[in-house]
Amino acid sequence: MTIFYQRFVSFTASLAVCILIDGETLLSADVPAVQRRGPFLVTHETSLEACNEAIRHLEKIAHEIEALLGIRPRSDQLIQITLFSRDKHLQRFLAQEHPLFKGREAVYVRSPTGPRIFAASGPSLVENLRHESVHAILHQHFPVVPLWLDEGLAEYFEAPFEESMRKDPHLDLVTKRAKRGDLPSLAILETRNASETLSIQDYEASWAWIHFCLVGSTVRRNSFLTYLNDLKYGDPSSTSLSLALGKECSSKKLCDHILTISKQMVTP
Ligand SMILES: [Zn+2]
Repeated sequence: MTIFYQRFVSFTASLAVCILIDGETLLSADVPAVQRRGPFLVTHETSLEACNEAIRHLEKIAHEIEALLGIRPRSDQLIQITLFSRDKHLQRFLAQEHPLFKGREAVYVRSPTGPRIFAASGPSLVENLRHESVHAILHQHFPVVPLWLDEGLAEYFEAPFEESMRKDPHLDLVTKRAKRGDLPSLAILETRNASETLSIQDYEASWAWIHFCLVGSTVRRNSFLTYLNDLKYGDPSSTSLSLALGKECSSKKLCDHILTISKQMVTP
């Protein structure tokens, strides 16, 4: 989920903080707790302990994105993350500050003070923080991020990487659709713009196209990385991955790719 800044009032503004850098307490007082993790600054309403696993993933996701895409978080801009101890606290905040997004488990906001992520503690916190962190890092670098690319990459990196091949829930869902030949062309996904909301099926298909681009073919992967570079430095409105991929970019080839990957998953 990506949203842009409208107005923001930090609940931390009037509270004393406990600042930890690499586990070392620099300034301690009452709640909330604040911890720096690489390019991320995490603020939690009460204690960071309940969120330790998710916080550890923040540095990992930054390294994974750099390794796969060559995109590194900006060194001059922290990504600020606010963690609410309960979902109802997050919902209260969203209702006040971003009412359109009430009900979301986590959101990314581009604010005048830099990228912000808001999320609540819970069983999906690792995946939620990984997902929103991808949005934050992409938007640090790209003037425009096509919706399918934004959500496709966020979905692709959402599952912890060492587990993604076996546990990624997208694969089962997408495999069923690939068997029916029911995955849309990339050209169709590219027509979705920021004013629209992607359907669940579009999220799945965007994940599948990212997987198609990054796994199994050096030619496709290189085309994808060139596309990212063009998007970053060229004219986003005239940059199209489906055109760049040419004949490689067909729904049939995507379905074949997904079915091949799916077979590899069940054959140790
Ligand atoms: Zn998203």
